[in-house]
Amino acid sequence: MAEIVLDHLVKKYGDGFPAVNDVSLDIADGEFMILVGPSGCGKSTLLRMIVGLEDITSGDLKINGKRVNELAPRDRNLAMVFQNYALYPHLSVFENIAFPLRLQKGHHDEQEIRRKVNSAADMLELSEHLQRKPANLSGGQRQRVAMGRAIVRDADAFLFDEPLSNLDAKLRGQMRTEIARMQRRLGVTTVYVTHDQTEAMTLGDRVAVLKKGVLQQCASPRELYEQPVNLFVAGFIGSPPMNFLPARVDGSTLRLPLVDVPVPSSLAEKIAGKELVIVGVRPEHFKDASLHDSAPQDAVRFHAPVDVTEWLGNEQYAYIPFEAEPAVQAKLEELDRDLDGEGMRTQLVVNLDARSRIREGDEAELLFDPSTMHVFDPETGVCLTRDEQEAGRIAAESEADRKRALERSKLRDTGAGTGEESSATINA
Ligand code: ATP
Repeated sequence: MAEIVLDHLVKKYGDGFPAVNDVSLDIADGEFMILVGPSGCGKSTLLRMIVGLEDITSGDLKINGKRVNELAPRDRNLAMVFQNYALYPHLSVFENIAFPLRLQKGHHDEQEIRRKVNSAADMLELSEHLQRKPANLSGGQRQRVAMGRAIVRDADAFLFDEPLSNLDAKLRGQMRTEIARMQRRLGVTTVYVTHDQTEAMTLGDRVAVLKKGVLQQCASPRELYEQPVNLFVAGFIGSPPMNFLPARVDGSTLRLPLVDVPVPSSLAEKIAGKELVIVGVRPEHFKDASLHDSAPQDAVRFHAPVDVTEWLGNEQYAYIPFEAEPAVQAKLEELDRDLDGEGMRTQLVVNLDARSRIREGDEAELLFDPSTMHVFDPETGVCLTRDEQEAGRIAAESEADRKRALERSKLRDTGAGTGEESSATINA
């Protein structure tokens, strides 16, 4: 078990480019921490610095309070699971899992190796496949063998580098659930790199969002979603992404492309003196007005021409094009580039109830509650509507949830049956 502390870590490669730029993070014992961001943001470099495969240019890396900057990877007792699994094709599943134990020559007798491998295989539902070769396994089974190898080592922490990116969508979903279950069950500190925000949101106790080597925000998935610190985090987290609309500040009115919104009193002071802001509204916060007779009193209603609708059974999306304010357009295009986007979307994406009868070509009546708006400074990208008190409340709640889940898993493992066996393996 381990607490991992990253204290102002910097990584500069040969050409002086800071791939990781002053990143500080406290990863708690037993926590599932995700490092996420678009391609090139430095997440793999950061993971490789933790495991010892990359030198640290400056800053301190501490594991359980001990500085380990100069410690060789094998002396850090961390288990890394790579994207390509790094399995040995000529060895059976059993021997692949046993490999790290055999490497520690003289540390484990044959009986102990057998017990550890069998217990891990049992947990990973690989018992039937122990004599097979990796080439004959499915992608998901290979993934589990790689995890088995990490489990038998009794490592202080698991480090994953995009472990699911080679799998098809269905298997990715299944493996995601398995990794989450395994991590909770073992209660092992885990650092997991992905560029996929869905993976980040579903797996992480906390998610560290990186952009160009700089940590933007590290928070629970819910805090990132509801209280993002800036445009980048707001745009990266959520699928479909948050809608960004340029808004002109006109006295006590915000003039958006499709609708005028009275400035909420809580916002007036924060946008005083600004001519333009960027308003962010999540797709699900727009509603079909005809289905919401009892909408909040201050809900804002407007009509908009619907270009395309997509009905998915449980929900549907409507796409509404709009003209963007040229002064803000440049900022939105820059954001799109940072997010690895596919060209600026000057369209509103609205997530409607599946019952909605809004169809393409309609002039739809929509509504939204202005208190769901996020408002951003168009120059700095800072979120002006972030509520620190609410963010603190969400953080405390998420931490309590995490501790409860760990406690539950400990209780389960001290109980009867297979749990007891597994826990014995891990704590041996
Ligand atoms: P991806 O998702 O594409 O793997 P990433 O977020 O994991 O991206 P890194 O691989 O950590 O990003 O790379 C971060 C930055 O460091 C990139 O700009 C990359 O070009 C640079 N970089 C990575 N490895 C080296 C290297 N060996 N020498 C020089 N620059 C490097």
